[in-house]
Amino acid sequence: AVKTSGKMNYRFFDRDYYESIRAKIDRNAELRHALDADQLILYYQPRVEVATGETCSLEALVRWAHPARGILEPIDFIPLAEETGLIVQLGEVVIDKVCAQIAQWSEQGRHVVPVSINVSPRQFNESDVTDVLRKALLRHGVAPRLVEIELTESSMTADSAHVSRALETMQQLGIALAVDDFGTGYSSLSQLQRLDFDVLKVDKAFTAELEKTREGSVFFTAIITMAHALGMRVVAEGVETAGQARRLKQLDCDELQGYFISMPLPATATQPVLARCVW
Ligand code: C2E
Ligand code: MG
Ligand code: MG
Ligand code: MG
Repeated sequence: AVKTSGKMNYRFFDRDYYESIRAKIDRNAELRHALDADQLILYYQPRVEVATGETCSLEALVRWAHPARGILEPIDFIPLAEETGLIVQLGEVVIDKVCAQIAQWSEQGRHVVPVSINVSPRQFNESDVTDVLRKALLRHGVAPRLVEIELTESSMTADSAHVSRALETMQQLGIALAVDDFGTGYSSLSQLQRLDFDVLKVDKAFTAELEKTREGSVFFTAIITMAHALGMRVVAEGVETAGQARRLKQLDCDELQGYFISMPLPATATQPVLARCVW
């Protein structure tokens, strides 16, 4: 007993450990404040249809317009929000902002394409994300076909029955579903088929392999064949070069996303990419 308490004392007074917890609490409070102060903004990255060369949708990517540190990327705050659960509230803000933006573009008479929204596993498990979406669409008068939900493979394995039900409800509402970062997780092919996903987004790691080795396109070839057989569209993520784009076109990939097409853009800068053709 004496030994154990010795250890406990050591751990309790471990300065680094204490400081790291303290720092997390502070950063979480700061992020909570950012939500209240409306400091989160959305950037939009175009997805181009290979067949036409036109922008067929936009992915909403959250940024934190920090008053002192400038525009922060998700890596600086999403993992923390995931850990503390603040992601649920953050996710609701993102959903509301996307719907408000689509409504504004429509009112301005702009060309409107579907916008995809990243949803974290915790949003499925700790909130009724379908209801949040449905209400946001209604509040802003946006058609369900104008939003798409992206979820990573890991969210599908979390609590299968619960997540499946939520996804089915979304589909009944007419919201398209996409698997994000495909190839990095453990979703089974049968799961993809059962849940009737519309879109498969292949992780950028596979795009990066395309021009490196002779075998670099094997994964894409197999995935595209399978996805098409199951009635899904394939999006290549992280397309950075003309060579990758050309190869993906040859492989019959449906859509491209990446810096070669466009960086993520502020809402006010999306119009030109919606009007142009990349080929
Ligand atoms: P993701 O959903 O896979 O989004 C694609 C990420 O790849 C974005 O990073 C994008 O800027 C980046 N990217 C795009 N093209 C290229 C390219 O050609 N090369 C490379 N190397 N990267 C490229 P970002 O914006 O930093 O977002 C990172 C991740 O944060 C996202 O990955 C997504 O998982 C998460 N995230 C972003 N916004 C939200 C959100 O609103 N809610 C949730 N839950 N997660 C979000
Ligand atoms: Mg995504
Ligand atoms: Mg992705
Ligand atoms: Mg990713």
